[in-house]
Amino acid sequence: MNASSEPAPIASFGCSVPGWVGEELRAFPARLTSDAQKVQLVNRLAELNWRDGGGGPFAALVVGRETGQVVAAGVNRVLASGLSVAHAEVVALSLAQVERGQWDLGAAGSEPTELVVNWRTCVQCYGAAMWSGITRLVLAGHGDEVEELTGFDEGPMPEDWIGKFEERGIEVVPEVDRLSALAVFEDYRAAKEAGEVVVYNARGTGTNV
Ligand SMILES: [Zn+2]
Repeated sequence: MNASSEPAPIASFGCSVPGWVGEELRAFPARLTSDAQKVQLVNRLAELNWRDGGGGPFAALVVGRETGQVVAAGVNRVLASGLSVAHAEVVALSLAQVERGQWDLGAAGSEPTELVVNWRTCVQCYGAAMWSGITRLVLAGHGDEVEELTGFDEGPMPEDWIGKFEERGIEVVPEVDRLSALAVFEDYRAAKEAGEVVVYNARGTGTNV
């Protein structure tokens, strides 16, 4: 019995991806056999995502390393969810963990997984990827261009971020098709300069990707 008249504190939170993400997945082959194909899909999802208005121009996939099948797809949902953590990587990793029913995406007895992202992770997603159990990280590209183009801040990443992943058994493929990824960010910048998008911003100076 609750004798207090005070409302109970919020006790759960959630995040979902829009229905068009599933439609885009079905337009691609059921097995993604090359890194180029995986990056093509995340670039496509990133482009659609900022135009949809639910978040920034970022998307991520968790893919089975043996089958090439997508376990989960995420897009940035910060604006739609009101959650600062709802970056594409966190959304994809979390959906994959729900799909698998376990927190370790590298657990013995299940297919090893990789994370595919349309640019280098921010400092939050760097940690999230490291703790998720993935054994491979595929990036369309990396570097400061995204911060310059989009206004987002990726945070204080370690100088040797690739080495830190590899020390923990996570292979990094840092650059698959950077020009296609940059084209998405260029379009986003043009929309931003036209005042058509919100660069979500908790500190007044930009926020994480
Ligand atoms: Zn992030």
